Amino acid sequence: YNIPKAINEPVKTYAPNSPEKKSLLDTYKKMYSEKVDIPFYIGGKEIRTGTTVSIHPPHDHKHTVGNYHVAEKKHIEEAVSNVLEARKKWAATPWQDRAAIFLKAADLLAGPYRDRMNAATMIGQSKNVMQAEIDSACELIDFFRFNVQFMTEIYANQPISSPGIWNRMQYRPLEGFIYAITPFNFTAIAGNLPASPVMMGNVCVWKPAQTQVYSAQIIMELFKEAGLPDGVINMVTGDPKMITEVLLDNKHFAGIHFTGSTGVFNSFWEQIGKNINQGKYVSYPRIVGETGGKDFVWMHPSADAKQVATALSRGAFEYQGQKCSAASRAYIPKSKWNEVQKLVKADLATMKMGSPEDTSNFINAVIDKKAFDRVTSYIDAVKSDSDAEIIVGGNYDDSVGYFIEPTVILTTNPKYSTMCTELFGPVLTIYVYEDEEWEKSLTLVDETSQYALTGAIFSGDRYVIDIATNALENSAGNFYINDKPTGAVVGQQPFGGARASGTNDKAGSVWNLLRWVNNRTIKETF
Ligand code: GLU
Repeated sequence: YNIPKAINEPVKTYAPNSPEKKSLLDTYKKMYSEKVDIPFYIGGKEIRTGTTVSIHPPHDHKHTVGNYHVAEKKHIEEAVSNVLEARKKWAATPWQDRAAIFLKAADLLAGPYRDRMNAATMIGQSKNVMQAEIDSACELIDFFRFNVQFMTEIYANQPISSPGIWNRMQYRPLEGFIYAITPFNFTAIAGNLPASPVMMGNVCVWKPAQTQVYSAQIIMELFKEAGLPDGVINMVTGDPKMITEVLLDNKHFAGIHFTGSTGVFNSFWEQIGKNINQGKYVSYPRIVGETGGKDFVWMHPSADAKQVATALSRGAFEYQGQKCSAASRAYIPKSKWNEVQKLVKADLATMKMGSPEDTSNFINAVIDKKAFDRVTSYIDAVKSDSDAEIIVGGNYDDSVGYFIEPTVILTTNPKYSTMCTELFGPVLTIYVYEDEEWEKSLTLVDETSQYALTGAIFSGDRYVIDIATNALENSAGNFYINDKPTGAVVGQQPFGGARASGTNDKAGSVWNLLRWVNNRTIKETF
């Protein structure tokens, strides 16, 4: 099929004094001084209930940039009946017309929407300019363009036929609606989780994270301007528990597309299982989720210390460690520890912390009070534990924003709490092993965590790379050799993990899109 061949959206650099930087920061300032009144959406209608929650930038939590309206149970029920109504037309819309809408959304985001989407991500989620650019601009654009390409590859895949017999495959949408639940940490994921099932002809009720509603609204505007018909995606905001209960209990619930914590994901299976047992659903729902991680960096004595140090400081502390893919536990050989330690400390000393508006700040705030309290409680515990010590950072202050210094913990206990538990914050724990035990330490890497999302190994020795790659074959769905474990690029490193990290359906890929089709095989004889 002749659609434009997808290429990755070039990353803008926002160089000092450049017009692109000025334009972005002007947008930031303007948005910062305004107050938005964010509705939820049913059938294209903007609904404001009057019950609102105010939105504060995490780095300046006394400031308000707007509020969003809270839906009641009756609205959620209406959101479902409305998407099911919209399904009739959307499911029958030719794929070329669906593709055109998402290609247009990509172009609008690459052009007129870019500054607003980036500024919203900087303000609402406290991302620095480059972290916003690679997420809310480039990755979301890439998701749209690559998924359109993957969609056409799926449709082109047809069974063999013979003279007098025509076999064909119809890639139809699921019979019902999809429920997308999205996280705060990537605007791109928030846009992609409703978009990818919808691209395949499905309709979707979308619940963004309460801490991401600010940029989520702009995604809804983008979809509308790109031509997505009203009601194909209904975005609802409000009590997550109530919304989930109503949606999962609906007879026409056909699938869930989720990114978030393992605990929340686990809770869905129970409710879905119960409903299946009671014969409540039309079909077995598709359950697709990307959940937590406890991602490792493992270094062999043959590796380059500079490369490892950079992987640690970037991989652990980009976006305050609030990536499922963030490096959060590291295994360093004793002979290299001094050198690595020095380099990491030097790199972290250059990382300024503060508001994203000052683009020289690499570190911004963690998302909210709950995250701040969780992460700092682990930091405090180290102070009284005898088997761990803080070697960098450890200070925090939430008087203006939820700021936590990049913190490095050194432990003599490879099973120390922060080696095993996902903290989702700017904390890296390091265990130093005896060089001659390098092979044994791989078992430790594999057994220490229940997760298997990302991981990185560093070695200059091909033999060691092979041994480690085999020993860790189930430890990470995204496995990096001599590179940091964050920053997967759509079309290049399809993303997702197994074990407690999710169903490994690889965001931005053919494998993901295939979860959203209900295939019909047709044999026709002439
Ligand atoms: N895809 C992102 C990365 O490779 C992580 C996504 C997430 O945090 O869920 O860094």
